Amino acid sequence: GLILGIETSCDDTSAALVDRSGHVAAIRTVSQFEIHDSFGGVYPELASRAHLEAILPVIGEVMDEAGVTPRDLTAIGVTRGPGLIGSLLVGLSTAEALSMGWGVPAYGVNHLRGHIRSVALEGGVTDHPAVVMLVSGGHTLIAEVTDAWTCRLLGTTRDDSVGESYDKVARMLGFGMPGGPAIDRAAKAGTATLRLPRPMKNEGYEFSFSGLKSSVARHVETHPEISPEDMSASFVAACIEVLAAKAERALVECRPKSLVIVGGVAASPQLRAAMAEVADRHGVALCLPPVTWATDNAAMIAMATWDYLDRGVQPDLVPKPNLPLEMP
Ligand code: ATP
Ligand code: FE
Repeated sequence: GLILGIETSCDDTSAALVDRSGHVAAIRTVSQFEIHDSFGGVYPELASRAHLEAILPVIGEVMDEAGVTPRDLTAIGVTRGPGLIGSLLVGLSTAEALSMGWGVPAYGVNHLRGHIRSVALEGGVTDHPAVVMLVSGGHTLIAEVTDAWTCRLLGTTRDDSVGESYDKVARMLGFGMPGGPAIDRAAKAGTATLRLPRPMKNEGYEFSFSGLKSSVARHVETHPEISPEDMSASFVAACIEVLAAKAERALVECRPKSLVIVGGVAASPQLRAAMAEVADRHGVALCLPPVTWATDNAAMIAMATWDYLDRGVQPDLVPKPNLPLEMP
């Protein structure tokens, strides 16, 4: 059997077919970078309109590509939150209609659980208990996952997420969207010559990235001679040092078997390397998503849906813009 995953929580329209082992039979993701680039962020009304245009073609394409009919589907899994309400509604109402038309059960899925399960795609195995760090565009949090289903939040950000600060710094340095990969590339070419603050590095599990971003803004004004490459390298070094310190603290205090790093920023080669070192030092397995599936996609949503089936938990198809990590 296959699960059809549908993801429309933010600015990516995505559908995927995933089997129980995590093999992705087909996936199609349409991004909206060009639509939102000039606004400096996602413009909600335009996002829902773009989802509406893309969603049925995207689903049709994955079904065709995998040669699958509705009869081959075990379930449909669709993101119910967190996310933009208008964007969520497009995926949810599409899933509801298909569920009724095809006679296939539909499950409302927590997008954050989707990110966490992205490490299981294409055969990735996670031993529990695990410490999970989710570093994405909308979230920066660290949690303990005891049995693949139960999450305990350890800490989150007081202000900006890491991904958001990557995107804002990218803008300051004149890079286009998406900002993360552009910063990574520039950082690789530069040297961390500037000592930026490491906000809250030595304090518990909370994060704060808006001060770091402001500090970059100040330096861009007062030291225009610093190259974008060196500025990027300095910024990335500060971010990663904070993230690695928090992960290390959780490994010491929670003594997990695995360290799971997910979300868009988990595509960063610098972060992957830093976390590999931390995991190695503490003798735990490092679980990372395939780079292409670190950012939003429907394969991770389909993967997470298998857990809901196993648990017999079937959340409804009502959008939950602020759905917390601990909820299904
Ligand atoms: P959330 O899941 O919290 O609702 P989101 O779904 O919008 O937020 P993701 O798609 O998981 O977030 O991640 C997007 C973020 O990841 C962006 O801020 C982007 O800059 C960042 N990102 C993407 N690729 C990279 C990379 N290679 N290095 C660093 N950051 C990256
Ligand atoms: Fe996401």
